[in-house]
Amino acid sequence: MIIDQTYIEELLKKNQHASKEDIQTILDKAEIKTGLNHQEIATLLNIEDEDQLQQLLEIAGKIKREIYGNRVVMFAPLYISNYCVNNCKYCGYRRDNKFPRKRLTMDEIRSEVRLLEKMGHKRLALEAGEDPVNCDIDYVLESIKTIYDTQSDNGAIRRINVNVAGTTVENYRRLKAADIGTYILFQETYHPSAYLDQHPHSLKGDYDYHLEAFDRAMEAGIEDVGGGVLFGLANYKFEVLSLMIHNEHLETEHKVGFHTISVPRLKKAEGMTLEEYPNIVTDAEFIKLVAVIRLAVPYTGIILSTRETKEIRKTLLKYGVSQVSAGSCTDVGGYSEGEQSQVVTQFSLEDERPTAEILNSLIEDGYIPSYCTACYRKGRTGDRFMQLAKSGAIHNVCTPNALTTLAEYLYDYASEAAKESGLKFIESEISKIEHKKVQELVTRNVEKIKHGERDLYI
Ligand code: SAM
Ligand code: SF4
Repeated sequence: MIIDQTYIEELLKKNQHASKEDIQTILDKAEIKTGLNHQEIATLLNIEDEDQLQQLLEIAGKIKREIYGNRVVMFAPLYISNYCVNNCKYCGYRRDNKFPRKRLTMDEIRSEVRLLEKMGHKRLALEAGEDPVNCDIDYVLESIKTIYDTQSDNGAIRRINVNVAGTTVENYRRLKAADIGTYILFQETYHPSAYLDQHPHSLKGDYDYHLEAFDRAMEAGIEDVGGGVLFGLANYKFEVLSLMIHNEHLETEHKVGFHTISVPRLKKAEGMTLEEYPNIVTDAEFIKLVAVIRLAVPYTGIILSTRETKEIRKTLLKYGVSQVSAGSCTDVGGYSEGEQSQVVTQFSLEDERPTAEILNSLIEDGYIPSYCTACYRKGRTGDRFMQLAKSGAIHNVCTPNALTTLAEYLYDYASEAAKESGLKFIESEISKIEHKKVQELVTRNVEKIKHGERDLYI
């Protein structure tokens, strides 16, 4: 059994009201970035005292800066089909919601991808409802091929992460052969009875089959898997501890845990109201839980979507988040339809700023927006990526790649004003690189990009 409900609940109960000293000891241990055990995670999740919370955030911020520097990885979701046979109570695409369903044709995918490329995106998360007839694996594979093949001007999608329903080892093998990046699947809730309640009469309603999806994906050779919880369905402390236990299970069984963790919070959707959910996570709880995840699994990327406001996104970038989406649409064909887009989306979004605006404000806040996809293309996946991350040498690879991909963006898609200030920012970031040789390499590459070369990476 991967998730033992009684064990988790007892651990949370036993580790309430820790002393200041106990918490200090845990934070000191967290600072050396070797992760935390179950009891320590439970203790930090139970922190309520303001000073202790502040201390927790400080250490999370320090770890975030040491491991990820000021880079932020950018991506966008692409919804290819909203046909769904499941009835997840929280989702606008559930089968009881009656609206005209749609799956994109290959031509429609090409136009969506061209628009995403014009926003500067190189990395997509492919999203679809579950429907073995209208959205079968052949259709998903054909869509992946179409996306990779759609290259216009300097635009190209270089990494497709895939967020489709849990499936068989055989289908995961086919996804692996299609060169996907991370296979992403949210457990939604680790709480067994909440899971059953939220997924009535659904293929997705089989808790164990869903939970074991990553074991099948890894058995099929997919090395990078991305977990997540839909926060708001059950007690957040139970969810975080379960997520960490799931991660440990993957480390034990497959030698590598989650490549990324997503932290979606429940939002209003067609056919449901947030009042039906007593476990909605407040902003303060949300910030705390992201900081605890940062301490518990320092080297695992944390992904935040445009479900969140720009203010929350800014705060969480400080304490743990390393990857954000931008310019997102959560309806099928939404990028092409723009303002005309259909009424039923999967859920509502909070940060609807255009990509260029998000990028500018990241730069203003001192972050390097990164369109880098080098690791996966260089075969640095699974535990090879983790070893690089843990060695600290990652800075010498990621910062140069972040800067050169930002330069590509500026030359290909930015306004004159944004280009001018962005290039100055790149120059000042290059001067902060420790090694002279790396500085020179990045300067040379940015110059080459100015003269038309593309896709330069280490
Ligand atoms: N249909 C597949 C599945 O359910 O696993 C693929 C992913 S679905 C398109 C993407 C995710 O959206 C779901 O896993 C769920 O966590 C999230 N989602 C659904 N309804 C939501 C809501 N009301 N608020 C926030 N996120 C939601
Ligand atoms: Fe379908 Fe996924 Fe929505 Fe559930 S969460 S109804 S499986 S699209």
